[in-house]
Amino acid sequence: GEDARPILSLRNINMTFGGVRALKNVSFEVMPGEVHCLAGENGSGKSTLIKVITGVYRPAAGAEIVFDGAAVSSMTPGIAQSLGIQVIWQDLALFPEMTVAENIAFQTLSGARPRFVRYPAIRKIAEDALARLGVTLDVDRPLKDFAIAQRQIVAIARALVGEARIVFMDEPTASLTQSETDHLLAIVHTLSASGVAVVFVSHRLAEVLEISSRLTVLRDGALVGVYPVEGMTQSRITELMTGRTFDQSVRAH
Ligand code: ADP
Ligand code: MG
Repeated sequence: GEDARPILSLRNINMTFGGVRALKNVSFEVMPGEVHCLAGENGSGKSTLIKVITGVYRPAAGAEIVFDGAAVSSMTPGIAQSLGIQVIWQDLALFPEMTVAENIAFQTLSGARPRFVRYPAIRKIAEDALARLGVTLDVDRPLKDFAIAQRQIVAIARALVGEARIVFMDEPTASLTQSETDHLLAIVHTLSASGVAVVFVSHRLAEVLEISSRLTVLRDGALVGVYPVEGMTQSRITELMTGRTFDQSVRAH
């Protein structure tokens, strides 16, 4: 069917920092509308891979990046954004003094001379994006009035306004409570149901199993494999991430 072609595929991705090989010949593929988890221990290369995909880092020669069937010879943050590749960074890169509405609409309007765009238009864009996520927020309040969980949602709404086709989330639940996490996972589900692919990085294996349909595992910068999440267990994922097999007797619970 038409969904059989990846929205994004990468091959031969190598990235070295000084003497550290952060990515060793990694391949990675995302299908339209899927929730795809990227798992691996600390330092396994997850954030580096996201930065290569989004044009923050340039991989070594020989890398192949194909977006929606077209080769991308050299990815930059601007090209990534124009293709609809959006990232929710851990530090969120939002503007605390601006209103929620301005944060959501800013990226899109920044090419359109925002000073001349009337605030009601900005508010409408923001409210529509939040409505697509099933969320109501007072968009006229400054972002700094909101907790990290709501800021996360603002960043996702902003990605939607930027016509996201893929949203990368790097450990989005790291500082959320359980109920905030549940809410975020519901929003991720809504996003993918609307056709936007989500690449979700998390250490929390229960949430990986709950949210994603496929899983790519990295270990020491190398690809371990790509797996359907159905039938996976937390201990199996841990084995794949660490390369160690846990026998029944040493399992924690
Ligand atoms: P993860 O996100 O899976 O925890 P990273 O991609 O952040 O892993 O890091 C992978 C490896 O690359 C680690 O050894 C890390 O120390 C190294 N690394 C990442 N970014 C840089 C950088 N900007 N400069 C030097 N080394 C880096
Ligand atoms: Mg990281």
